[in-house]
Amino acid sequence: MLRDPFGREVTYLRVSVTERCNFRCRYCMAEKPFSWVPKENLLSYEELFAFIKIGIDSGIRKIRITGGEPTTRENLDELISMIHTYAPEVDIGLTSNGYLLPAIAHKLKRAGLKRINISLDSLETETLHYIAQKDVLSQVLKGIEAAVSAGLSVKINSVILRGINEHEITTLFDYAKEIGAQIRYIEYMENSYASNTISGLRSDEILETLSHHTHFTSVSSIKSGPANLYETSTGYRFGTIEPHRHDFCATCDRLRLSAEGDLIGCLYFEGAKNIKEAIRCGDTREAAKILAEVVDNKPEKNLWGVDTNEVSSRAFYRTGG
Ligand code: SAM
Ligand code: SF4
Repeated sequence: MLRDPFGREVTYLRVSVTERCNFRCRYCMAEKPFSWVPKENLLSYEELFAFIKIGIDSGIRKIRITGGEPTTRENLDELISMIHTYAPEVDIGLTSNGYLLPAIAHKLKRAGLKRINISLDSLETETLHYIAQKDVLSQVLKGIEAAVSAGLSVKINSVILRGINEHEITTLFDYAKEIGAQIRYIEYMENSYASNTISGLRSDEILETLSHHTHFTSVSSIKSGPANLYETSTGYRFGTIEPHRHDFCATCDRLRLSAEGDLIGCLYFEGAKNIKEAIRCGDTREAAKILAEVVDNKPEKNLWGVDTNEVSSRAFYRTGG
């Protein structure tokens, strides 16, 4: 079992398979990065799996594959299949922008994928084009349809930006409800890779808008990862993810592995240890030791919303969002 010094059990590993992306969302990767990580610096699926096995043997029960855009890496189903075959009880999820899902959703499901979070910030062609800096709406909607028809459990992630998509809080809600997917409104996290004109809505503003649209109550006693959950009178559940909240980190159960092998205790802080060399030498004992050290050094809480310049300079698309 992996337990950090603050008593939190670490059971969740987010694995970034690439930092590359086919979108340029203004809040994440506003500019194309100056250079991409050379392919040989990325861990192969076999190398990622070698570390994931150590994690599972140590108590990891939930794995989410992310990026960058994970579906831009070829044959993603192979990695999912390796994990699923090794430990069918482990809950495997994926976070994706949806664009490439029409061709691969069924294959991913067959490989052992259980759930998928798809980012959808707008239902207006022009607005989504503006946010993603690419004309993507119809393809993303097809991707969502493919995920639903493959039988994956689908959630919708939406970042609400002031003056850009804030008028769509209720239309996104209605769309997600209609397709039977939980929507989670993620508060924008400030970072230096975003356009400097971006600012996000806080969850109290989002909830205020929703309260004029539908009746709901908080069901936050039900644990759902980092989300605060709400339920309408008809039983539809939705969530908010509020990294600026003072108690956001109290139940944090996660670590992150970047595509280059950095094992990261907290998205907010710079601290990381690299497992690539240990894995490439086949030194599983050393890799397990690094895992234990990162858990031991997991920070107590992030400082989003606090006036400090301590925030990591690592981009979210490299850390795995
Ligand atoms: N490309 C995939 C996607 O967009 O779903 C996976 C990676 S992305 C970094 C993971 C999640 O982080 C997405 O839901 C995205 O909206 C969110 N995200 C990215 N940058 C963010 C930011 N600055 N603040 C809040 N959420 C952000
Ligand atoms: Fe790409 Fe996801 Fe970042 Fe958008 S949020 S640029 S889709 S990694």
